[in-house]
Amino acid sequence: MAYQVLARKWRPRSFDTLVGQEHVVRALTHALTSGRLHHAYLFTGTRGVGKTTISRILAKSLNCVTGVTAKPCGECEACLAIDADRFPDYVEMDAASNRGVDDMASLLDKAVYAPVAGRYKVYMIDEVHMLTGHAFNAMLKTLEEPPAHVKFILATTDPQKIPVTVLSRCLQFNLKQMPPDRIVGHLTSLLEAEGVPFESQALRHIARGAEGSMRDALSLLDQAIAHGGGRVEESAVQDMLGAVGDEHLHALLAAVAAEDVAAMLAVADAMHARSLAFGPALQGLATLIHRAALFQFAPDAVTDEAERAALAPHAVAFDPEFLQLAYQIVVHGRDELPLAPDEYAGFTMTMLRLVAFRPEGSPGLGGGPSSSGPAKREARGRLAGGGERRVSPVQPPAGGSSAPAAAATTRDSLEPAPPVEVPTPAPVSAVGTDDSRAPPPVNSGPKQAEPLDGDWHTVLATLKLGGMVRQLAQNCEKLGFDDGLLRLRLADSQAHLLAMNRGTREKLQAELTARFGCPVRVAIEVGKVASETPAQREAVEHAARHQAAVAALAQDPFVQEIMERLDATLEEASVRSL
Ligand SMILES: [Zn+2]
Repeated sequence: MAYQVLARKWRPRSFDTLVGQEHVVRALTHALTSGRLHHAYLFTGTRGVGKTTISRILAKSLNCVTGVTAKPCGECEACLAIDADRFPDYVEMDAASNRGVDDMASLLDKAVYAPVAGRYKVYMIDEVHMLTGHAFNAMLKTLEEPPAHVKFILATTDPQKIPVTVLSRCLQFNLKQMPPDRIVGHLTSLLEAEGVPFESQALRHIARGAEGSMRDALSLLDQAIAHGGGRVEESAVQDMLGAVGDEHLHALLAAVAAEDVAAMLAVADAMHARSLAFGPALQGLATLIHRAALFQFAPDAVTDEAERAALAPHAVAFDPEFLQLAYQIVVHGRDELPLAPDEYAGFTMTMLRLVAFRPEGSPGLGGGPSSSGPAKREARGRLAGGGERRVSPVQPPAGGSSAPAAAATTRDSLEPAPPVEVPTPAPVSAVGTDDSRAPPPVNSGPKQAEPLDGDWHTVLATLKLGGMVRQLAQNCEKLGFDDGLLRLRLADSQAHLLAMNRGTREKLQAELTARFGCPVRVAIEVGKVASETPAQREAVEHAARHQAAVAALAQDPFVQEIMERLDATLEEASVRSL
């Protein structure tokens, strides 16, 4: 017997074997069993979701010799003929190639005659939106007064293009895309029945590649079987699809967690060498990050044991906020890929962005000792040209004098870091403009960024902030700084500054971290400010300068003379202080 492609061999022949589209099956079953049949159905949905398949099952249900039924026998002459595509009363027409009024007219002419072999004439018009306006009009007449023995099944991927007059005469069903889990499940049972050996990870790649279409999934599976010489193996499927293996994605995420740029580049280079596509890689990474975030918030939602085991390290290594940010970075990175100089550059830049935005010293959910930014500090050290700042990525807490060498060795061998304190590089420079308030760096306990102990006004004066970040910082008062955490309170009248742009806090955090050369986290609460914020002080100072300018003008003899001669007054609001 000739080899039959899986998509055809395994095409569902009854509602029972149909995978997915339960809502449609339920409605049609009810209509068939209760005898309340509509004369025209419209199936909408993307390609390969089962529009033609359901149409054929419906045609069998209407024409099976056992009577109109939701469970056609599949053995009678009508059922067999419809399955074999040779039933005279079941006509499939592709409107993409027969779109004119003549095609429609000849189809409708035949519709008036009674069925030849069955109970109903069933006309299936696929891609119905392609019909011309005249063809729609011709069909409309029949749809308005259909012969009792005619059923229309219209199918389209683009229901927007169908005239309302036609839509209103059809019972519409929206067929859904197949979720990857359903596809994997179906392929699994099918391969088991066929006795084809397979690796389940390979099926995940196929499901992803099929993008919700079961038909595409089956075609890909056929290719994979041919490609793998009778087996379905992950590596072969990856090669076939140009897909990126999960091991690559996990390695990338682990490299981000460890801020190990070298490891990250090694993975990217390996992908490049195998000509794996970077766009799908970013998509895969976004999926992985989504799954990790899901695992953090709703562990029970991830049921696959192997997947749970794979996700657990990521769920521990990253805190939930960062995974949200990482997801955005990766999704945007994929959007920006066409704009990048080349795909490799676009991909690695996105990965570097993940490392750059990773909050330093973030412990993650499980409190695991995540390394705290060696890559970033080294990068910064190189930029600053400061040799002494990069001697050891991990320094002992100030006061401890022994183990820097040991710590550095550990880091070099890239083993999991021991739970060290957040490293304390010497402050780059003290703020030093307000000697009364900002304590000199000598006053160093185990704290970092001593300058931040000082007055918020003074700290801000040393930062070059712009735009929204400056607005935000200026409208805050400092509540305290302890253990790398700067706590600010935003005046409640300015709460929109935080709500409008969720990235401003992170940007302020990044600015402070860059300015002081050590990790600074920023927590902002909204409330009534007790002290004067920089913005308020600026406003007061501005008002004072303005008053002084007005007063000075009023004292000016020239101005006085003009006012006297012309009976003029001084428009105070127009005065600008210099
Ligand atoms: Zn039958």
